[in-house]
Amino acid sequence: MLSYRHSFHAGNFADVLKHIVLVEMLEHLTKKDKAFDYIDTHAGAGLFSLNSTHARKLQEHSKGIDKLYATDWPELARYFEAIKACNSGEKLDFYPGSPMIARQFLRHQDRAWLYELHPEDFDFLQNNIGRDRRLKARHEDGMKGLLGLLPPASRRGMVLIDPSYEIKSDYQHVSDTVAKAYKKAATLGYAIWYPVVERERIKQLQRNFVKSGIKDIQCYELGLDADSNDMGMTASGMIVINPPWTLKEKMQKLLPKLVETLGEGKDAFFKCDVLVAE
Ligand code: SAM
Repeated sequence: MLSYRHSFHAGNFADVLKHIVLVEMLEHLTKKDKAFDYIDTHAGAGLFSLNSTHARKLQEHSKGIDKLYATDWPELARYFEAIKACNSGEKLDFYPGSPMIARQFLRHQDRAWLYELHPEDFDFLQNNIGRDRRLKARHEDGMKGLLGLLPPASRRGMVLIDPSYEIKSDYQHVSDTVAKAYKKAATLGYAIWYPVVERERIKQLQRNFVKSGIKDIQCYELGLDADSNDMGMTASGMIVINPPWTLKEKMQKLLPKLVETLGEGKDAFFKCDVLVAE
């Protein structure tokens, strides 16, 4: 079942949090000359027009990236540069997906592995990355692909796991797959996105990570409103394994500002937690 299309949601508040964390992790990897591998298990189309019929239908970007102005966020300069690189003028016509953001950080020695199952989004992805030999797009299950790829040749890098959680078993599948991946490549960074639709599912997901034996796990969450089981996604979060040492301090300063800018009422909130210590 592949009914989810990210083109309806690109640039929403969840993308903002996810891509800020992604940029921080990628920037950290570029601090050493040594090559790294970027693995994106659920890559999506790579680039989204905010003027498309899909984007215009839900207008989710109006509650996300549209509310952030680069000049107010000097600490997010690299994130805004990645967005600017996908637009020709000052106007925000396109929002980059994770593959196009990652591409901005790749040097000649680095590689990106992009998995996407939806046939149409896979075609878009291939078109968007073009003939860039550093990026390899695969029309395959990203979770199986990840386990087959690890450990990567460089032995350095990060994995982004960004499913749509359409199937309830996806939550368990994510923690099981990460536990297996970590056994093969314990030094990589892992960033796992999750939506808060039913809080109990997230508590269970977090418990799975805590019980996994994996060390050094942080968790960042941004909620536009109080938890509710019948309002759809009201918050979203990122679980980060082996985070850059700078990440926590940065997120502690950023998240209150993001809540102030994107929150939709007095119950908007953030979380900045250590799930498992180093
Ligand atoms: N990571 C993207 C970004 O930040 O721009 C967005 C990804 S979107 C939330 C999830 C994508 O995963 C969808 O495009 C969907 O078609 C794809 N997908 C779903 N199951 C998959 C699987 N098992 N392997 C690879 N791709 C999958």
